[in-house]
Amino acid sequence: MAPDNLTPTIIPRAEHPISRSSISPGALKVLYRLHNANYRACLVGGGVRDLMLGREPKDFDVATDASPDEVRALFRNCRLIGRRFRLAHVRFGNEIVEVATFRGSATDADDANGDDAGRILRDNTWGTIEEDAVRRDFTVNALFYDIADFTVHDFVGGIEHLRAGTLQLIGDPGRRYREDPVRMLRAARFAAKLGFRLHPDTEGPIAELRHLLADIPPARLFEETLKLFLGGFAVQAYEHLRHLRLFEILFPDTEQSLAVEENHFPRTLLLRALEGTDQRVAEGKPVTPAFLFAALLWEPVRVRAQQLTAEALPELVALQQATDEVLSRQLSRVSIPKRFSLPMRDIFMLQARFAMRRGKRPLRLLAHPRFRAAYDFLVLRAAAGEVEQALADWWTELQETDGPGQEILIESAPADADGGAPKRKRRRRRRRKPAGDGDGAGTEAPG
Ligand code: ATP
Ligand code: MG
Repeated sequence: MAPDNLTPTIIPRAEHPISRSSISPGALKVLYRLHNANYRACLVGGGVRDLMLGREPKDFDVATDASPDEVRALFRNCRLIGRRFRLAHVRFGNEIVEVATFRGSATDADDANGDDAGRILRDNTWGTIEEDAVRRDFTVNALFYDIADFTVHDFVGGIEHLRAGTLQLIGDPGRRYREDPVRMLRAARFAAKLGFRLHPDTEGPIAELRHLLADIPPARLFEETLKLFLGGFAVQAYEHLRHLRLFEILFPDTEQSLAVEENHFPRTLLLRALEGTDQRVAEGKPVTPAFLFAALLWEPVRVRAQQLTAEALPELVALQQATDEVLSRQLSRVSIPKRFSLPMRDIFMLQARFAMRRGKRPLRLLAHPRFRAAYDFLVLRAAAGEVEQALADWWTELQETDGPGQEILIESAPADADGGAPKRKRRRRRRRKPAGDGDGAGTEAPG
């Protein structure tokens, strides 16, 4: 492809909604400093797309004809980073503006940059703005806002697709997915985030090519999973992923448990969790990957733990072993850093302790650092019909009442599921217990 002769559609300032007041101060400074040094400087990617749609962009990316070294020479607060390509990060307080030099199209004739599967391995040759446009993924992601005259440049029909609400890959979709299979996930993500329809040509090849995602490094799929499910459109993303049959590539055990089980619990638990996540994002509340992965992996863990319990393993041990098994398979697809998988494991293990409501155990559990997340998860299970609502309500009350109220609740609780805590005279306890909150069963994983 020789894109140098592409004539862009140029939209003058009066005919598009992007105003400088909606661009972050950092991005504006970068654009102006490049411009004043006689470089071409444009806002690109999701920032332009979102501003065109009247949405608030997550971040701002800048594209320029200055080389990374030239960018660095202009900004003291600049760091060159490079994984797949060299980029400049310019920092203003909390804000980081990503500045990328126009890149040549790596899909050029000789394929020198691709591997046998057509995947891009090296992607670091500078190019023209036209080339930079066509190597981007979707047409709506390839618009340039030029700080020189505040025009928007469209080389690939992105404006029209923005208006129509369609997501369309630039170039031959099959080839673009082979170059980078993660684009299939990005298709699901942008369709969900923007409420756009996938163009049939863009959707079509996914059925045949989705297996290529299995070769993507799990760490990259972890990043994509977070973007899919923690961006405030998790329910939509999930529906798109299921529809495109990409979900089963990311979470094969979960997919299997959804398919095999005839009861309707699993779907509702996961869907409710995703709904809750979206709601929290909408309210500006924090969301944690640990809770997300707990929701995503609970069903296969629960099913496996049930089998193990039927083989006479104690409940906690069964849960633990089931978690180990499911997690080790899962990590070969989507990695989950320990800082998230350990709290996820806690959320699972604590589920087995909610049934034990007599004696000292409830107040110990209440003081567990992961109690809140585990309790939220219990509420989810109750809402999905997986445990008695009365059990979740009991724990809600226990948190809301004072010391004497707690004693009454605990004394009138049904006998523990494990046969009941030994009946002995109640002592007053401190509410918080220091380190080591094991319940004495000796079955919980350390840490
Ligand atoms: P978000 O709202 O999630 O930030 P975004 O469109 O800005 O969406 P980024 O992942 O931040 O997405 O990437 C910025 C831009 O870089 C994209 O808009 C697209 O033009 C280009 N890009 C990113 N990833 C790819 C890819 N895998 N293949 C081709 N182009 C890509
Ligand atoms: Mg972005």
